[in-house]
Amino acid sequence: MRRVLAVSVFSILLLIGCGGGGGGNKQPDYHGRCDYSVLNPYSRPPVDLVWYHNAQFNLDRTIRWPHRDVLIAVMDTRIDRWALQQILDEINRYIYPTRLVVADVPPVYADIEIWHNPVLDQLDWLGQCEWIFGAGNFLVKAIIEIADSPFYGCLFYAVLKHELLHAVGIFEHMTDGGVMNSPTYNDVITPNVIDVLVPLYRFPAGTPVYP
Ligand SMILES: [Zn+2]
Repeated sequence: MRRVLAVSVFSILLLIGCGGGGGGNKQPDYHGRCDYSVLNPYSRPPVDLVWYHNAQFNLDRTIRWPHRDVLIAVMDTRIDRWALQQILDEINRYIYPTRLVVADVPPVYADIEIWHNPVLDQLDWLGQCEWIFGAGNFLVKAIIEIADSPFYGCLFYAVLKHELLHAVGIFEHMTDGGVMNSPTYNDVITPNVIDVLVPLYRFPAGTPVYP
């Protein structure tokens, strides 16, 4: 599911809602644990990955955070800070010199907000991410919401990682069984994820990319 809303603030800002990070399948066989048996690293769309996962949503131009610290306000009190930091350390390897940083700032001052949203669970979503981008082909805000379903452990953090990867510029889901699969079964950052993030953050925002 995807929706696009236009908002006018100096230039065009777009708000895109991304579908449920964990997807709707609530079968108990993978709740509470990660299922690595679904990994299929050879599955990738037959088009340019940066275009497919990112540029197609911005008139074939790449869109990402600037090369600076991106501040995260953690409003979901269920999130263990050490576990979150492990996720950020892993993602930061691929978006250098941009860096995701947990910050003790009010959400309005943060670049990325993470909230607990019990209502999402009633929509059969484990998580969602919305993001706004604007002038200069840069992201300016991302809002992550994590559901209240009875999932925990690996899958909870897999969904959190899934939404954080949406927040740094992977806007479309993957079919490789890794963390960007939907539904999400595990927390594996697959080669497809790396092949989007590394070029996305290496080249200037707004770089033309075609299928
Ligand atoms: Zn998603």
